[in-house]
Amino acid sequence: MIFKALRLANFRNIRSADIKFSDDVNVICGENAQGKTNLLEALWLFTGTKSFRGAKDKELVLFGEESAKITLFFNDDGRDQRCDIKIDGKRQATLNDVPQSAASEIAGKMPAVIFSPADLGLIKDGPAARRKFLDTSICQLYPAFIDVSKKYIRALDQRNKILKEIKYNENLLSFIEDFENEMAVSGAAIVGYRKRYLEKLKTKIPDIYGGISDCREKMTAEYAATAGDNSESFKKALFAARKNDVILGSTSIGPHRDDIKIDIDGISARSFGSQGQKRSAALSLKLGESEVFYEITGKKPVLLLDDVLSELDEFRQNYILNSIKSRQVFITCCDKSSTDKLKAGRILEVSGGNIKAF
Ligand code: ATP
Ligand code: MG
Repeated sequence: MIFKALRLANFRNIRSADIKFSDDVNVICGENAQGKTNLLEALWLFTGTKSFRGAKDKELVLFGEESAKITLFFNDDGRDQRCDIKIDGKRQATLNDVPQSAASEIAGKMPAVIFSPADLGLIKDGPAARRKFLDTSICQLYPAFIDVSKKYIRALDQRNKILKEIKYNENLLSFIEDFENEMAVSGAAIVGYRKRYLEKLKTKIPDIYGGISDCREKMTAEYAATAGDNSESFKKALFAARKNDVILGSTSIGPHRDDIKIDIDGISARSFGSQGQKRSAALSLKLGESEVFYEITGKKPVLLLDDVLSELDEFRQNYILNSIKSRQVFITCCDKSSTDKLKAGRILEVSGGNIKAF
């Protein structure tokens, strides 16, 4: 998967642009608030999903204009293709001049993985961020996971309602078992999906984190389950937790409480990691995600790295600019001197929404 060129009209602060990309590394460089992240955001929209910044479609259109148009020229398996997206109140897409019934129809055709400053939350924030990371990656690969998750959440909500009401109405206890049975089946399946996915991811991490840290540090990731991936033992665990859960008024075990334990050299990255270590670990999870995606689908996602170089020392910056092999990469940075380290690739300078390629 190679993004060959991009044409933009009225997208965010970019009135018009026609840019050719390098097949290897593209460094998007410029001062704050010039349009670097906007450019990555435009590329990301071709994944068919929502903006990674959570923007509404109409926020993507240049102020004062009615609509934006973005066109990506790409090459997949040796075949040159083109995708057009028009954004006004909604989004419409055409792929090789064939109109798509919904803009989300293009999902999976132009895969990309984004690393943005918000992804530091993967290490810094609570367990919900890590669960979301696993679940989003799994959904893209195994759509059946979405159904299982919905079933689990529905049963969990019902059980929680009962736990809250039971003080006032003891008869409700007779209903709780049905929901626990459902939770045990779908919950164990969710844990199974997550563990299998993390096993694949773990095989990628030593090379990636080792590369970034010049093999001076070791990153490990382990699934930390509260109830396990066997439905029988899951059911027993729910039963055993009931008394405590009534006091809490919520369900204390299950995949909605699980976590990934991420360590660097055997100690918690979240509690003890330095800024650079946290950034390197979060980036490793994301690069690993793209490797697993490639292993399973045979498609290499394009890497979009927003502001990843800050806080990294020279060695780590150098690695990211020059050693992510066999992947097309787009990296934004404010510090022009970072581009001096680039050995091969293209520099795109962004200033006030204008883009110049070198
Ligand atoms: P930083 O280095 O601070 O991350 P950046 O180059 O990544 O900066 P962007 O996030 O791409 O900056 O945003 C550049 C500018 O785009 C912002 O100042 C913002 O006001 C402007 N902008 C965002 N949406 C629109 C829009 N719909 N129309 C016009 N301008 C917009
Ligand atoms: Mg930015």
